[in-house]
Amino acid sequence: MEVLKELSTKLRPTKRMPLLFVGHGSPMRAISDDDATRTWAKLGAELPEAQAYVAVSAHWLTRGTLVTDNLKPRTIHDFGGFPQELYDMKYDADGDPAIAEEIRRKLLSWDAKLDGSWGLDHGTWSVLRHMKPKPDAPILQLSLDGRQSFEQLWSLFQELRSLREQGVIFIGSGNIVHNLGLIRFEKPDGFDWAQEFDDKVAHALAEGRWKDLLHPESLDKAARLALPTDEHYRPLLSMLALMDQGEVPEAFNDFVEFGSLSMRSFIAR
Ligand code: ZN
Repeated sequence: MEVLKELSTKLRPTKRMPLLFVGHGSPMRAISDDDATRTWAKLGAELPEAQAYVAVSAHWLTRGTLVTDNLKPRTIHDFGGFPQELYDMKYDADGDPAIAEEIRRKLLSWDAKLDGSWGLDHGTWSVLRHMKPKPDAPILQLSLDGRQSFEQLWSLFQELRSLREQGVIFIGSGNIVHNLGLIRFEKPDGFDWAQEFDDKVAHALAEGRWKDLLHPESLDKAARLALPTDEHYRPLLSMLALMDQGEVPEAFNDFVEFGSLSMRSFIAR
């Protein structure tokens, strides 16, 4: 007779943890002190005690779904042309292989795998170093499978919802408007089309029409300019898929800068 091995679980039941979608913007925010980073710090200090943080960054796009299982995730400087100070920055955080395995097991039907080669990319650490300067729980990253349709992405993240009641705080890090080709650093606000797309997304979020966001092109004609590629938009959808319909996303850092970069973010708590 086959003996079923009891699977160990490290995460304990909790009340539902908050989650955040964060517009991360330029990597320079990692070393900036401005209204946006001060908001990150304030929100980080208000978060309840977590058993783990799971970050979903636009900058970890993979074939298949991967979960970081390093004990000490490295700080990845995945950008070019910035001041040395940014490359010298290290974010000291722990990982947790046992929690990574628990997450992988929840995604067996998606054939998720553990990964020790990645670490924390700037989508994660440029934000978290402000929110959690000294992390009080392990930080893991979950990759985005760039081959998935938005519907598949939504289904995958729905299977992780129970983790929010096991002490996991999810943080999606991307940008609702992200067009680097059109960026104008001298422009403090957004182009009209960027502002318009950002507004449409804001309304859909506030009105609970989250599934409309699976079809950004039907939301506004500027979708193609706002999202010439979709990797910065996927973290937004992943966080919405983790939410209950009754939850209210509270907006913060709701502005567009440099013409074509939206910092719009929300927390659900
Ligand atoms: Zn980015």
